[in-house]
Amino acid sequence: MTMARAGAALYRELAEEGLFQGLFHRRPTFLVATSDAEADVLSDHSEALAEVGAPVLWLTRDMAADRLAPLSRKTVAVLEVEDEGHAIGYSIVSRLISAAGLKVERNSPVAALEYDGRSGRVSGVRVGEAVIEASAVVVAAGGGAGGLIGLPDVSRPRRGQQLVTERAPTLNAALPGSLLSCSYLLSKKQGGDADQRGYGVVIDPLETGQFLIGSTREEGRNIPENDIDAVAHLAASAGDMVPALGRLRILRCFAGIRTAICDGLPMVGRMPGIDNLFVAAGFEGDGICLGPLTGRIVADLVRGEEPEIDVSPFDPGRFAGRSIAA
Ligand SMILES: Cc1cc2nc3c(=O)[nH]c(=O)nc-3n(C[C@H](O)[C@H](O)[C@H](O)COP(=O)(O)OP(=O)(O)OC[C@H]3O[C@@H](n4cnc5c(N)ncnc54)[C@H](O)[C@@H]3O)c2cc1C
Repeated sequence: MTMARAGAALYRELAEEGLFQGLFHRRPTFLVATSDAEADVLSDHSEALAEVGAPVLWLTRDMAADRLAPLSRKTVAVLEVEDEGHAIGYSIVSRLISAAGLKVERNSPVAALEYDGRSGRVSGVRVGEAVIEASAVVVAAGGGAGGLIGLPDVSRPRRGQQLVTERAPTLNAALPGSLLSCSYLLSKKQGGDADQRGYGVVIDPLETGQFLIGSTREEGRNIPENDIDAVAHLAASAGDMVPALGRLRILRCFAGIRTAICDGLPMVGRMPGIDNLFVAAGFEGDGICLGPLTGRIVADLVRGEEPEIDVSPFDPGRFAGRSIAA
């Protein structure tokens, strides 16, 4: 949570400085409970947020009716979290690539890392028959990272399915932030197995007037495909939370793969014993929020400087017993 708060703060900073101008939209998140049991989950979450200094506010029934008129009257409790925001991940990546003037080689998978036999340091990467030499290597390859650094078993895929509705500007304007169900919080903490799907509803009002509705958390599923059962379930759950959504058409569906590390934390840091090899992977459902901050932290590590945040809990060395191959 500390890292996520710092990640959101960096988005705000970069938006104000102009780099993310027009891409990052500040707005609150509303966490919604639809039963007393869910309200208990929300209460615990609210304490955890408050501990890291997040500005949270419980909405009374009247406040919720006023702030979130389209929300179902079945709602039992609503917690508003300020200082949050929304950005489309690929737009941020594209802005950063062009701002840095980077050349990106697409469809060129790295088959292996190359090592200098004498020093044990990494000397480059192998792409097909070619070797690209490098003075330092950062492995930020999502689900492909573990295999490259000799830790193929520490991560697992979790598929997420989402839908996008047609435009509904009036309804969209009536929701000042994203709505997140308690079941989403629970699926994030526990993951879901492939049969249970790990359903948890998030309703994101987009700048276009459309709604992004997610998502599943399907453990072990690594093919980014949709299926009609999941899509129908998500659409119905979103309609339960905001009945007016039930009247909108779904324009498209898509799926993506989150990479989760077995202990629930990402891997960010220098590989043990190899001073010029770094890893940044395993961000599960938080990599868009954490991406810019992680980039800054890894750049500090590569330059031999102390990062602004303590990333020792994410040290890849915690898996040192698990055959780190060179
Ligand atoms: C449905 C869904 C909803 C999400 N919602 C949110 C959200 O609301 N907020 C949030 O912060 N995050 C969210 N995420 C998570 C976020 O998308 C991920 O955490 C983030 O994309 C991880 O970024 P990454 O660069 O580490 O890995 P990836 O995005 O997986 O990228 C890794 C890249 O490495 C490439 N690669 C793999 N192996 C190799 C190789 N050998 N050589 C070269 N390249 C290789 C892959 O092709 C891929 O392009 C969501 C994800 C999903 C699926």
